Amino acid sequence: MADGLFDSPLFKDAFEQLEDAASIMGLDPNIAERLKYPKRALQVAVPIRLDHVTVKTFMGYRVQHNMTLGPGKGGIRFHPHVDLSETAALAMLMTFKCALVGLPLGGAKGGICVDPNELSRQELQSLTRRYATEISMIVGPNIDIPAPDIGTDGQTMAWFMDTYSQLKGYTVPGVVTGKPIAVGGSLGRAEATGKGVAYCINFAAEKLGMEINAKTTVAIHGFGKVGIPAAEDLRAQGAKIVAVSDVSGAIYNEDGIDLDAAINWVKGRKFLKDMPGIKVISNEELLALDVDILIPAAIDGVITKDNCRNVKAKIIAEGANGPTTREAIKHLTERGAFIIPDILCNAGGVIVSYFEWVQGLQNFFWSLDEINNKMHAILRESFDRVVLASETFDVDMKRAALIGALRRLEKAMRLRGLFPS
Ligand code: NAD
Repeated sequence: MADGLFDSPLFKDAFEQLEDAASIMGLDPNIAERLKYPKRALQVAVPIRLDHVTVKTFMGYRVQHNMTLGPGKGGIRFHPHVDLSETAALAMLMTFKCALVGLPLGGAKGGICVDPNELSRQELQSLTRRYATEISMIVGPNIDIPAPDIGTDGQTMAWFMDTYSQLKGYTVPGVVTGKPIAVGGSLGRAEATGKGVAYCINFAAEKLGMEINAKTTVAIHGFGKVGIPAAEDLRAQGAKIVAVSDVSGAIYNEDGIDLDAAINWVKGRKFLKDMPGIKVISNEELLALDVDILIPAAIDGVITKDNCRNVKAKIIAEGANGPTTREAIKHLTERGAFIIPDILCNAGGVIVSYFEWVQGLQNFFWSLDEINNKMHAILRESFDRVVLASETFDVDMKRAALIGALRRLEKAMRLRGLFPS
């Protein structure tokens, strides 16, 4: 059953975090045993005809970790590191995230091992449509609802939704979230994850008695769908964004970078390091900057035991999933950094995905204010609950968040029981 699952550091880390939190809180061992492995994992071959006529096959995955609380929910990632083990770990994190913030959804994740930057728009469309067809038997509005993640966006979701609808013979907007507004998406979904990160940073700053103002410095690792809106929101509050990075490297200006210029530059699918008239530093140097707030918003495993001693930020807001390893969290917490754990910090995305799903099922759409206010309320309540668990159990915020999630899952799994009994 566990063949291949433990191949990625992310799965090992998630597995150990689960065992650790379970022992601290005294989780029912039978519940812990069931949460260690994904419920269902599908691996598919995704052959497509490239523009120059030859056929190439990519490997795709969809993993459903636990669906006790409701249909599976989780993004689709197009990235060269995607494999079964990483996808299973990310599905497990989704189970915990949905449980922590009180959504009636389970945890799932999918992806294709591919570098989307190397494919044309037509090739990406073929890839998405073939993948959607291959996993169509295990997704659906009441089964498992994908969303965008690294390397995918609203356009990918529109192609996915259209393909699924062609197979069904009628339009099924609820099969995915993160769709463009014109095909049933929700206001505020595109910025939701980054906005949620900014909300959580405000809660953390308030707890630490720190003001967000023109002296507050911010560095952001990963300048995509999470990093950009987080940067925009923090700038709107007066903070100074001194560095941002993408896979090519980082740009830095101690007086604050020109955020609009950087956003316009990457919109044309250009790498930050090629931007004219800026100082380029490495991603490692960005992580080590002496800033107030560091937002790892790219990929997992970037702050590890090897580089955590260089990280100086007071607040580390995990915009990405799993960017900080267990050893790094231990060290950073001991030296007094405040870590906002991923399953809380980046939950704004799945919260507004849930709103999109609800709006789609009702065919009744809400205003942007309503969406942002509801998201803010859920994150505020969840943040306070995690702080309380951290103080009650005398554990770091990461473990506290997991304990909060496991409490909710334990209750629901006990009530539903184990089939067959
Ligand atoms: P994205 O593809 O829009 O952006 C990713 C950014 O990270 C890009 O700037 C890319 O160049 C950079 N990047 C990729 N590999 C890198 C590397 N090795 N080193 C440095 N930078 C690298 O993806 P996204 O949607 O912003 O997702 C970022 C993270 O946030 C992921 O961990 C994802 O799982 C998580 N997340 C995303 C959402 C969402 O709604 N999009 C929700 C919750 C969590």
